Amino acid sequence: MRAKKIKKATSKKSAAKKSKPLAKKTSATKNVAAGTDAKRVAAILAKLDEAYPAATCELKHENAFQLLISTILSAQCTDVRVNQVAQTLYKKYPTPEAFANANPSELEQEIRPTGFFRNKTKSIMGASKALLENFGGQVPRTMEEVLTLPGAARKTANVVLGTAYGIASGIVVDTHVIRISNRLDLTRNEDPRKIEQDLMQIIPKEKWIQFSHQVIWHGRRVCYARKPNCMECNLEKICYAKDKTI
Ligand code: SF4
Repeated sequence: MRAKKIKKATSKKSAAKKSKPLAKKTSATKNVAAGTDAKRVAAILAKLDEAYPAATCELKHENAFQLLISTILSAQCTDVRVNQVAQTLYKKYPTPEAFANANPSELEQEIRPTGFFRNKTKSIMGASKALLENFGGQVPRTMEEVLTLPGAARKTANVVLGTAYGIASGIVVDTHVIRISNRLDLTRNEDPRKIEQDLMQIIPKEKWIQFSHQVIWHGRRVCYARKPNCMECNLEKICYAKDKTI
């Protein structure tokens, strides 16, 4: 009888052992986000609409050109700081011509509070010159054209085209969008270009612009990097992020 019991237990163990590899994720499935079915995505979008119906770009600007310059300045810097610098900057340099003819050392000091001021000066002056030489002094309206401007990558182009012109060219992927789209399991990539592609597959195009603003707002107000405020989050029931705080 005892021998029978031992045999039974052993065979159960070996069955569990045998089934283990089947439960393991293969490397091919590891990177596929599991939270992307249309119903779940629609629920997330509805919750974002509910929480942030008026989300918009927080960089103050009066036209597409100012938004381009402010977006270049916003790399590794807060929008609040950029807005402070921009207040006086656009009075002194109201046009692409003014920036293109700036004294680089002076401009460096003026934008110094935003960090990386030498590179940013080169980008701002280079972009202003390129606008004058190639686009009649106007910020162009296509992704391909904006990408030709010094200092403008896809994120900048998406901000400018989406906010200034209402053109949905893609999705803005900044540090908040990287973090939150991973927490919500809408992507399992870390590379902004791949994340943007993942999101563009599952978010309806007419929501691209608003979704970018809303997720950035959510990251600034609730879903913080270090300690997300899940108690106050209206996505809590949908979210199964490992680092949820409730
Ligand atoms: S529940 Fe928490 S981790 Fe998930 S989206 Fe909300 S704040 Fe972020």
